[in-house]
Amino acid sequence: MSDIQVVRQHLIDPEICIRCNTCEATCPVAAITHDARNYVVDADKCNACMACISPCPTGSIDNWRTMPRARAYGIGEQLGWDELPAELTPEQLAAAGVAAGAEPPPPAAVSLPAAASGEAAFNSAQYGATVPPWSAAHAYTNLYGAKAARTIAATVTGNVRVTEVGREAGHDYDTHHIVLDFGALPFPVLEGQSIGIVPPGVDAAGRAHHARQYSVASARNGERPGYNNLSLTIKRVLEDHQGNPVRGVASNYMCDLQVGDKVEVIGPFGSSFLMPNHPRSNIVMICTGTGSAPMRAMTEWRRRLRKSGKFEGGKLMLFFGARTREELPYFGPLQNLPRDFIDINMVFSRTPGQPRRYVQDAMRERAADLAALLADPDTYFYVCGLKSMEEGVVLALRDVAQQAGLSWETLGADLRREGRLHLETY
Ligand SMILES: Cc1cc2nc3c(=O)[nH]c(=O)nc-3n(C[C@H](O)[C@H](O)[C@H](O)COP(=O)(O)OP(=O)(O)OC[C@H]3O[C@@H](n4cnc5c(N)ncnc54)[C@H](O)[C@@H]3O)c2cc1C
Ligand code: SF4
Ligand code: SF4
Repeated sequence: MSDIQVVRQHLIDPEICIRCNTCEATCPVAAITHDARNYVVDADKCNACMACISPCPTGSIDNWRTMPRARAYGIGEQLGWDELPAELTPEQLAAAGVAAGAEPPPPAAVSLPAAASGEAAFNSAQYGATVPPWSAAHAYTNLYGAKAARTIAATVTGNVRVTEVGREAGHDYDTHHIVLDFGALPFPVLEGQSIGIVPPGVDAAGRAHHARQYSVASARNGERPGYNNLSLTIKRVLEDHQGNPVRGVASNYMCDLQVGDKVEVIGPFGSSFLMPNHPRSNIVMICTGTGSAPMRAMTEWRRRLRKSGKFEGGKLMLFFGARTREELPYFGPLQNLPRDFIDINMVFSRTPGQPRRYVQDAMRERAADLAALLADPDTYFYVCGLKSMEEGVVLALRDVAQQAGLSWETLGADLRREGRLHLETY
C-alpha cells in the first residue's frame, strides 16, 4: 500500500476568471494571490473552507484536481497558465505512487483570523455579505461567458463625460457615462450587477485581453425605460495605483468609443450585491468615484417606483466621496433629486483651502441617523469604490453602532448573514 499523500488541489480557471479580486479579498487565510495576468491558489495555505466559492462571479474559482502532494502545482507554475491542466489519469496517479482509490484527507479545520476582537486584526471583508437581501429579485448570471467565446455584441448608443473638464493636483479624472444597447438579444440585469467588457486585441505577451468588470449604472428596465439597454460609469485609468503613468486597456478603449461602435460583452455577474424589493426597506449607499454606478442604478429604480405611485419606499441615504466637486461623477444631476426622496452627503478630500474629509467622516457626523438605520432590520448597506475606503467605512459603522449601545459582534454577524452589508471595492 502506498503512503504517498494525496491532496484535492484548489485551482482557478484562467480562461474564465475576470480578475475581479473578490476571491482574494474573501479568503480568510490569504491563500489567493495574483500577478498582472492570473489569480492563483497556494496549495500550502488553502484549507478548502469554501468561503471564496459563492462570491466568485464567474465560477472560475471552483476547480479541484486530485494530486500527489509532492506534485501539487506551485504558485509560479499557475501564474504561467493560459488554461487549466487536465485531471491526472488513474495511470498517471499510479505512476506517481498513488494507490487506486486513495482519498485526499478531509480539509483542515477552518481558521478565521482573530478579527472581530482586536483593532489590529480588523478585517472589513469578513462583514461583507455573500447572500442577497431576502426580497431581492432573481439575478441572471453568466448568460454569456469568455470560455466558450460566447460573447454578446452590444452597440454603443451614448458616450458622454460626467465629470467636469479639468486637472486637479496633476491627476486626470475623465469619467464617462456609456450606454450599451443589446437590440433583440436577451441581457437581463439588476441594479448592483456588473458586466464584463472584452477589449479587442492582445496584450504584450500576444494573448487575448482578459475581460474587465464594470458595474451597471442603470435601472433594471433600461437606461431608458423599456429599452434593452444599460449604462456604465467608466473612469479612464491614466495612472496606476502608485501614481505612475499608464494607459488602462479597457477603460481607455471604452471612453474612446463612438456611438454606433460594437463592444464584446460577457456576464451578467453578481448575485448578492442586489437591492431589497420590499416596501419600506431603507438603503444606505456609501461610495467613491465610479463606485457611484450601482448607487445610481438603485436610486433610479427607486425613483421610478416612487413616480409610479405604487411602491412605498423606505429611506435612501447616500455618502459620496471624491477628491473635488469637479471629479464627482453626476454632480449636477444629483443636485436635482428631491431632498424628501434621498438624503445626500457629499464629501471632498482635496478642496483647496478646506480640511480633507472622507466618507467615513460624514458617516460619523450623521451617527444618530445611521445608528437608527443600523438597528432597523429593514436597512441595507452598500459600499462601492476604492479598495482603500472599505476598512474605514466598516470601522465607522462599527463605531456608530457601539456608541449607540449596539453590540457590533451581534450586529456585524447579522448584517452579513441577512445580506444587509455589501462590499464591492476594487
Ligand atoms: C466588481 C467590479 C466592478 C467595477 N466597476 C467599475 C466601474 O463601474 N467603473 C470603473 O471605471 N471601473 C470599475 N471597475 C474596475 C475595472 O474593472 C478596471 O479594473 C479598470 O477600468 C481598469 O482597467 P483597465 O483595463 O483600464 O486598466 P488595466 O490595463 O487593467 O490596468 C492598468 C494599470 O492601472 C492599474 N489600475 C487598474 N484599475 C485601476 C483603477 N481603478 N485606478 C487606478 N489604477 C488602476 C492596474 O493595476 C495597472 O497597473 C470594477 C472592478 C470590479 C472588480
Ligand atoms: S477555499 Fe477557503 S482557504 Fe481555499 S482559497 Fe478559498 S477561501 Fe481561501
Ligand atoms: S473571477 Fe472568481 S476566481 Fe477570478 S478573481 Fe474574480 S472571484 Fe477570483
